[in-house]
Amino acid sequence: MDTLHIEDRDYRKLIKMANMANAMLLGLHIYLLLMFAFNHIWLMVGVNLVSLLIYGSNFFWAGKNLKVYFVSAYLEILIHMIIAVFAVGWDCGFQIYVFALVMIIYFGDYIFRKQKWMDEQLHPRLISVIVIILYPFLYLQSHLISPLYPIEREEVRYVFFILNALFVLIFFVICVDYFLRIILQTEKRLGKAAWKDELTHMNNRRSMQERMHHLMSPGTEKNVTVAILDIDDFKRVNDTYGHNAGDMVLEKVAEHILKKENESMVSCRWGGEEFLILSEGSHSYDHLVAAIGEILSAVEQDTFRYEDSVIRLTMSAGISKLRKNERIEHVISRADQCLYQAKSNGKNRFVEERQVAFPKG
Ligand code: GH3
Ligand code: MG
Ligand code: MG
Repeated sequence: MDTLHIEDRDYRKLIKMANMANAMLLGLHIYLLLMFAFNHIWLMVGVNLVSLLIYGSNFFWAGKNLKVYFVSAYLEILIHMIIAVFAVGWDCGFQIYVFALVMIIYFGDYIFRKQKWMDEQLHPRLISVIVIILYPFLYLQSHLISPLYPIEREEVRYVFFILNALFVLIFFVICVDYFLRIILQTEKRLGKAAWKDELTHMNNRRSMQERMHHLMSPGTEKNVTVAILDIDDFKRVNDTYGHNAGDMVLEKVAEHILKKENESMVSCRWGGEEFLILSEGSHSYDHLVAAIGEILSAVEQDTFRYEDSVIRLTMSAGISKLRKNERIEHVISRADQCLYQAKSNGKNRFVEERQVAFPKG
């Protein structure tokens, strides 16, 4: 099953959040305990003592077992809410905690999934349906049957209601804010990954195609030269030293190519052991020819070390310039034919399009 990996850093942040929420809940119950004791509502004093015990021990469970933490907090809020509505009625606003319950169940489910506890889904939709049914039930119950401990003083009921509403609203805002930040961070991370080659950290093919698409839009600079580079006999590297050695070589070759990048020259991993460099500007052709010459000799001179072996490499390349009113695919295709020519001529060289007889465009 497809699951997300939770990083240590994220996990530590999560534990910190859990402890913060726990401290908030503990504070809330100390306040409620005092309020109930002050109004001689002893049933709720007893309930709140149990709540304090639960949140006290949840400081321990937050770092040990988040399942216990979430389930106990959820059940505590649910049971506390039901008993409180029975005890002091609708006017004190304890029913508002259903919103906190919805948040907790979705938040818990998100954490469970991230933690790869997929076999222990919390079924937030199903549980939310129960809470949705519970809300009108509590309304009817509290209006049909009078509370066990009716609070006569209106201002006491106001204090209960306002503080309950504020607590739930603040909790709601914190959770929504946290979710939004997670979504934005993840989008940013995935967005970056979508344009980069994982192995070489170069731009990937899609990123280069996007750049080309932008370059070809009307009214933009069209002085463009393209080179395609390919490692010679790369299959031999894999076959002789193994795939990991091949990967190491690709990374090192990429470093040589990346050194040539500047404002008017960008490169990418075009596929397998092929790279593409795109040069722009009035001297795009000459600059690229010079850069390719330097890359090829740097690769040839480099001693790629893998474990105890030294791997010697060469590369071939083909270079072509974009013609007037031409589609970018055509110049890439000509660069590819030049590369093919370089391979046929004996590899370890580059071929410019003027050395190849192309039909006039
Ligand atoms: P030529 O000189 O004609 O280019 O020969 P070559 O062996 O370089 O070319 P060929 O197309 O026969 O082989 C390319 C090899 O590159 C085959 C493939 O397994 C390997 N390759 C492609 N991508 C990767 C990669 O990401 N890592 C590794 N280690 N090998 C790769
Ligand atoms: Mg090759
Ligand atoms: Mg190839």
